[in-house]
Amino acid sequence: MKIKIINAKILDLENANILSNMTVCIDGSNFAFVGENDNLFSFAFNADRVIDFEGDILSAGFINAHAHNAMSLFRGLKDDVPLQEWLYDNMFVIEKFLTPNDIYYGTQLGLLESIKSGITTQLDAYFEPESIVKANLDMKMRLVCALGANIYDDRYSALKREFESLPHDSELISYIAYAHSIYTVDTKGLEDTVLMARDFKLPMHIHLAETLTEVGECVQKFNKTPVQLLEDIGFFEHRCLLAHGVHIDKDDYDILLNHNVSIAHCPASNMKLGSGIAPIYSMMQAGINVCLGTDGPASNNSIDMFKEMYLATLLQKVNLYETNIMPAELMLKMATINATYPLMLNNKVGKIETGYKADLIRISIKDINFQPNNNYISNMVYSARPDNVVMTMVNGEILYENGGFANFIDVEKIIAECNNSISRLKKMSKM
Ligand SMILES: [Zn+2]
Repeated sequence: MKIKIINAKILDLENANILSNMTVCIDGSNFAFVGENDNLFSFAFNADRVIDFEGDILSAGFINAHAHNAMSLFRGLKDDVPLQEWLYDNMFVIEKFLTPNDIYYGTQLGLLESIKSGITTQLDAYFEPESIVKANLDMKMRLVCALGANIYDDRYSALKREFESLPHDSELISYIAYAHSIYTVDTKGLEDTVLMARDFKLPMHIHLAETLTEVGECVQKFNKTPVQLLEDIGFFEHRCLLAHGVHIDKDDYDILLNHNVSIAHCPASNMKLGSGIAPIYSMMQAGINVCLGTDGPASNNSIDMFKEMYLATLLQKVNLYETNIMPAELMLKMATINATYPLMLNNKVGKIETGYKADLIRISIKDINFQPNNNYISNMVYSARPDNVVMTMVNGEILYENGGFANFIDVEKIIAECNNSISRLKKMSKM
């Protein structure tokens, strides 16, 4: 399918500038032309469909760098407790009863919310990757699927089996070697994860330094900080993305810098679980790459990158008593392009540029919370909400437009299946 979008505003985040009257041509899954309306005359393009954006914003879709979408099933199940209690006494209890079918529909519920709020790629780390991959393929969504969420023994062989059994023929799906954390996976398991990443050239992912309890236990057990522990295990020999990093010591910044390690900052989850404020401003000042994630909807309780951008900038301002830091254009980069390096998607998504994959969103500038239009980039971070998203396109395919999902997405069925699943799971787990 060939789609031509005219009269769009594209955000130039490098120069905090707006490019108006832009035309974007999409040929199959790629951007074939990006330029001013007038320049299109020199580019022959017979579109199957022309969409007039009427001055609306055309932005790269958001990249959710840390998600557990199937945990949408547990939204609101246990609020207002600290991480350890939330995880061990609640999530681990009910998760034992999950079936592949629960995870398939739970993931799709998360994807409905993601697509509606402008996310076009997510790193999803959860059990049953086969169900997660199928859920994404069936909804034509871009996924970086974490491997190894519930593998504990003989991890190398099991990870290899898991990787080889999953589909490798879709440009929507890629993989990342994953260990849940240093407190749930032992040293041998972490080493196996590194070997897996090495042999299959995968990036790596883990929750790290999320709470003070985790850091304290690590120092007591290994006489090393979590960052030092992972460095010694070889975890940073490959492209690595750490989720949270709330309590990473300044003395360890050099280790992260030397290995180009990135951080997936999840402010809403960190605040709700009382984990603390990740020092992302000082990390970025030191040169560390930081991107944004929502974490799972059981600890957030929504999938909304607008909320994460808003909280991320405000948290640093209030924590450091400093207003002229973390400007809106930086937050938009954190929510898009910054995630492409750690996920090995660089030069593929995250930009509206010829040759890139056509992952884009349309933001209505006619909505009340965008009036008056003093500053579009500011509005995107400080005023926008998911309901300002009026179109989401992934890989050249429109998944959501003007309040409705594409006809291959059955919203009612997904919601009904999820409600059935959670009733059964609550009964079985006595929660
Ligand atoms: Zn997480």
